[in-house]
Amino acid sequence: MSPEQFSSAVLQWYDLHGRKDLPWQQDITPYRVWVSEIMLQQTQVGTVLGYFDRFMAALPTVRDLAEAPEDEVLHLWTGLGYYTRARNLQKTARLIMSEHAGEFPRDLEALIALPGIGRSTAGAIASLSMNLRAPILDGNVKRVLARYVAQEGYPGEPKVAQQLWDVAERFTPQQRVNNYTQAMMDLGATLCTRSKPSCLLCPLKTGCQAHLLGLEIRYPVPKPRKTLPQKRTLMPILANHAGDILLYRRPSSGLWGGLWSLPELTDLQELESLANSHQLDIGPRQQLAELTHTFSHFQLAIDPWLVRVTTAPASVAEADWLWYNLAQPPRLGLAAPVKKLLKRAADALNAGELS
Ligand code: SF4
Repeated sequence: MSPEQFSSAVLQWYDLHGRKDLPWQQDITPYRVWVSEIMLQQTQVGTVLGYFDRFMAALPTVRDLAEAPEDEVLHLWTGLGYYTRARNLQKTARLIMSEHAGEFPRDLEALIALPGIGRSTAGAIASLSMNLRAPILDGNVKRVLARYVAQEGYPGEPKVAQQLWDVAERFTPQQRVNNYTQAMMDLGATLCTRSKPSCLLCPLKTGCQAHLLGLEIRYPVPKPRKTLPQKRTLMPILANHAGDILLYRRPSSGLWGGLWSLPELTDLQELESLANSHQLDIGPRQQLAELTHTFSHFQLAIDPWLVRVTTAPASVAEADWLWYNLAQPPRLGLAAPVKKLLKRAADALNAGELS
């Protein structure tokens, strides 16, 4: 297929089958498209829907996001994971207010210069909300194009990525770029799926090299495998008689940066010194089931221990520590495994453990 045939097949398919009712396809603005694109990175559309609506209800404009407390933004993000995305979102909102007079730049280079906006996200914002001719290459589009041209090599390698960008650039049409971009994302999400592509329904089947070879699943070529290293930590869940749990805020950079977490210990011997440093008297303790959390570059095995605090000062002296009430949780950003552990602690305490 020529680039014109390719894009017109995609657009005809879009007119009949493309998605047009997603919340970020209504009242289209660069802000709404940008937030949806960031949420959709590494997260399925079905999961994003609820988060997007809550986010927009709480922070309807880029100014609202720029001026919101960081804890509020992280709270709205809790459960979506990859919290750097949320922090970059706010950094970018602040830059748009301070450097761009509250308007998204209509220029790819300027968009890419903003934190958390890569070339594909910039292309999506420019094409979907400004109808500027800009290619995208998110996970879904990458899969469609890698199959269409039967691209050899892992697309995470710069040379292979550049070849796919060249393909994306060549096929992007001059007209109706917004619909074309949406259609390519939809094709990847609904027809050209990872394990069972519906090639017979696909408008590209007559030119798709992977399909013609009967090797759809072979592309995109996966990353060469390596096993993840394991790490282990112990998290004491210090509970007072009011049902409050002692949490601290992690430093803003690094793992779970800026989120509230349980303290971490190397072993149970360190529990006494943690208690002493907060002037706590502690009593019975009980081990809860191990929790494993997988990060992109390692696996963390967490040993949770529920510990009864028998006496404690009226409040915590340090700024980055607080008592978190399980019955009336404050609006804070929590790391996903910490949220799970707090739920387990609440169940155990309600069942009368440690009383
Ligand atoms: S023909 Fe099949 S493999 Fe090729 S783009 Fe369409 S759905 Fe994907």
